[in-house]
Amino acid sequence: MTRQETAPPRPGRGTEPLIFELSSPGRIAYSLPALDVPDRPVDSLLPPSALRTRPPELPEVSEVDVVRHFTRLSQIQHGVDIGFYPLGSCTMKYNPKVNEDAAALPGFAGVHPYFPEEVVQGALELLYHMEKYLCEIGGVSRVSLQPAAGAHGELTGLLMFRAYHEDRGEHRTKVLIPDSAHGTNPASAVVCGYETVEVPSDSRGGVDLDALRRLMAPDVAGLMLTNPNTLGLFDENMHAIAEIVHEAGGLLYYDGANANAIMGVARPGDTGFDVVHFNLHKTFSTPHGGGGPGSGPVGATRELEPYLPVPLVDFDGRRYRLVYDRPKSIGRVKSFYGNFLVVVKAYAYIRSMGPDGLRQVSEDAVLAANYLMRKLAEHFHLPYDRHCKHEFVVSGVWQKERHGVRTLDMAKRLLDYGFHAPTVYFPLIVPECFMVEPTETESRETLDAFARVMAHIAEEARQQPDLVKAAPHTTPVKRLDEALAARKPNVRWQPET
Ligand SMILES: *Cc1c(COP(=O)(O)O)cnc(C)c1O
Repeated sequence: MTRQETAPPRPGRGTEPLIFELSSPGRIAYSLPALDVPDRPVDSLLPPSALRTRPPELPEVSEVDVVRHFTRLSQIQHGVDIGFYPLGSCTMKYNPKVNEDAAALPGFAGVHPYFPEEVVQGALELLYHMEKYLCEIGGVSRVSLQPAAGAHGELTGLLMFRAYHEDRGEHRTKVLIPDSAHGTNPASAVVCGYETVEVPSDSRGGVDLDALRRLMAPDVAGLMLTNPNTLGLFDENMHAIAEIVHEAGGLLYYDGANANAIMGVARPGDTGFDVVHFNLHKTFSTPHGGGGPGSGPVGATRELEPYLPVPLVDFDGRRYRLVYDRPKSIGRVKSFYGNFLVVVKAYAYIRSMGPDGLRQVSEDAVLAANYLMRKLAEHFHLPYDRHCKHEFVVSGVWQKERHGVRTLDMAKRLLDYGFHAPTVYFPLIVPECFMVEPTETESRETLDAFARVMAHIAEEARQQPDLVKAAPHTTPVKRLDEALAARKPNVRWQPET
């Protein structure tokens, strides 16, 4: 049964009321016992400068109002705990709940970053071991757990590139980035003060080696590369790429946000990368989306290691210490030690999977992607007909040319069937692109169900194009002005004056 057939009617104007709009003066969600101490007016406790002149404009609602409101909101969201979420490049795998239990342990959840080292030895021990695991997975010599996200890891890595070159008296101003790269790569390079130069892809979806040779120059700091790239393809020329970049004095940055295909199989440090970042909130199953906290640890080979952010955690055989005395370090990139509880969740994941389990994750992720790719290729154009890794792209060009139905329309139509859409129109080099990442946590039945719905939508595009073009039909809101929502977000309630 599809969600279209089961969805309850939505109230009102298609959007839920705000909690403020449910407010009724004087209504409260709690009742406290009578005071058994003298009631001292607040203005006898605080100086006038600290007092409000007007009461705060808070919603006044009962407990059941609060519970219903937020439960209802949670039900009109899509998430990995609700359904399939094949958002390419985002690795929306299921996040095991045991990770949450670990992070909620009072010894982790209650720890304060200003506690003295002696009383947080357990937390430091966890950070120390997490670094070791990521070194092993990435083939690097040291890792900083400080960066808060993938893009932050990129910025950290590029600051390290700069520090490395400046240490050698070199002033390099450009960073090479393939045309299939994630948008954060050029953004990070520009934030770091580099000029970006685009490297074209070849017909097999990898880096065009001749172009790379031509572009590699003494003013180029290095190349940022995702491998497998955003097409889901492993670059077959990895060793040649590394040689070209290194020979010209450049460095190689590994965007490992999507390491879901390589764990226990290939290590970026072994294939020539100098600096690597991982997204714990993708590959290592910590929740993401909605702007929640992430973690983008950065690893470096022995040569680049001195430039990592401080502090790192060391162990002298007796106790764990935070080490700040690293003269070549680029310094801090975040307050304290990164998003500690996110690291705890990823640590729990790595420990519960073990090395064989992590390898199996990658093998299953690749298997699921290849299985689904072949099914979708029966109805959609497959621009790169090769084995893929953890994700793949198909294109809606046939549907657009023949029936005027765009990939965006079909993506919206998926919502009517209870599936989150894949990433669309990215990577930019594939027109009308769907970028699909099923992940290892989905069953064959789910993959089959998704493939069936995609085939059905392709059929609808043929038979009833207008139905698809007007989708979604069952969601509380329809087609939003996404550009406006991103550029001028209005997320603040203002009282009517
Ligand atoms: C998600 C992603 C990033 C950025 O990671 P954030 O944590 O969102 O900053 C960078 N590169 C690739 C390939 C990604 O998929």
